[in-house]
Amino acid sequence: MSRDRVIIFDTTLRDGEQAPGATMNLEEKLLIAKTLEKMGVDVIEAGFPAASNGDFAAVNRIASVIKNSTICGLARAKKSDIERTAQAIAPAARPRIHTFLATSPIHMEFKLKMGEEQVISMIKDSVTLARNLCPEVDWSPEDATRSKRDFLFKAIETAIDAGATTINIPDTVGYTTPDEYFDLISAIKNKVKNIDKAVISTHCHNDLGLAVANSLAGMRAGARQIECTINGIGERAGNAALEEIVMAIKTRGDFYQIETGIDSTMISRASKLVSTITGFTVQPNKAIVGANAFAHESGIHQDGMLKNRETYEIMTPQSVGLDKAQLRLGKLSGRAAFKDRVKEIGYELSDEAIDSAFKKFKDLADKKKEILDEDLISLIDDSLVHSKTRYQLLELEVKCGTGRISEVLIKIKIDSDEVETRLRSVDGPVDAIFTAIKTLIPHNANLDLYQVQAVTEGTDAQANVVVRLKQNNRIFSANGADVDVLRASAIAYINCLDRLNKI
Ligand SMILES: [Zn+2]
Repeated sequence: MSRDRVIIFDTTLRDGEQAPGATMNLEEKLLIAKTLEKMGVDVIEAGFPAASNGDFAAVNRIASVIKNSTICGLARAKKSDIERTAQAIAPAARPRIHTFLATSPIHMEFKLKMGEEQVISMIKDSVTLARNLCPEVDWSPEDATRSKRDFLFKAIETAIDAGATTINIPDTVGYTTPDEYFDLISAIKNKVKNIDKAVISTHCHNDLGLAVANSLAGMRAGARQIECTINGIGERAGNAALEEIVMAIKTRGDFYQIETGIDSTMISRASKLVSTITGFTVQPNKAIVGANAFAHESGIHQDGMLKNRETYEIMTPQSVGLDKAQLRLGKLSGRAAFKDRVKEIGYELSDEAIDSAFKKFKDLADKKKEILDEDLISLIDDSLVHSKTRYQLLELEVKCGTGRISEVLIKIKIDSDEVETRLRSVDGPVDAIFTAIKTLIPHNANLDLYQVQAVTEGTDAQANVVVRLKQNNRIFSANGADVDVLRASAIAYINCLDRLNKI
């Protein structure tokens, strides 16, 4: 029996980036877009081109590089926004404009200061313009779940008449519940006269922890596009998590009778990349991509697993790209073995990138006996993400210990200049390092978060340090990985300053 297909619309680069501290630069966005394309994402919402020149450039670049996914840009219901978006996505093989207007009484009265008739006429004008500029138009009634139904239906009908090809129903404030959302999508399907001319889409926020459940309920009611993000990042509590949606549909295909076009074995890789780039670490018990998601600890469970994995395992780690029987590379592994493994875990790197990654791999293999896939991913993501940084840590010397003042010597390359300083601190080595860096790269940001995590198990594991800096209410995050936790801290801090000074 052939199954219906649901379109996976990823908005990590737009809604995800709106999460405080998740700002990404052009190269980082492109890296994520390539990964999404490779994993089979149908539509990539690449950004909000009218928001800034940087956003425009990123969407434009992604539109010219990505060939297998539809590239979508978000626009407010304004002529200038829609025209700028059309321009940004013009190079795409399959371009799409996503435009929206609020339809709830509270948004119309306080935000738009517009009555129902004005809203309807604005929908007509904006969607008509968008459709004249682009063959695919996605239209969203913002705050749909708090809108009056009759008015919402009228607004949707107007948008479809004006040429909208997808109608997205956002639960903007994360307020709906699965039963209610099922009922709303069913009502739209039954009451909007021309709804057969458009695809219904879900866009659910996770304020009540219901984003995934709501999206799946919407799909059961007839929605055939789901908007989601990697690791569920997004405004406030985030969006529906792509990995959870995809694995729920896959694992419970018997129930849903629907499929996606996603290669689920890319999930782990995409999750790690987004986490590295945004500095948003994934909680250990997070479904699908958390470090414990496939760990079985209790004796009863382990016993069952040994007899038959299916006693406690509803999906395999391999299905999300976690290969338990992973190949361990070491000091003696050659370039060919390294290259093969890099390819197997999902990277396509140029010869130049392979060379530079191989060099880093050798350095790491000198310090760590076994190099696991997690190490490779951290090493490669790190070099891809930070390949164009202005600052580079050249040398770090630290003296510290119980009852003594910490002392550091740090040498940094800033563009082509080398600068160095010595500093002492009574507050320990990390404070000494950060203060020393501040004297070399002056700034007025505050340290908002300092977090250390091990990439793999064991005392020789690489440390992944996340640093978050806050400056004038803007938040920037970056990470640094190294077997030496103090070096990792210095690298993370420098990477974060690079990001802060670039924007
Ligand atoms: Zn949203």
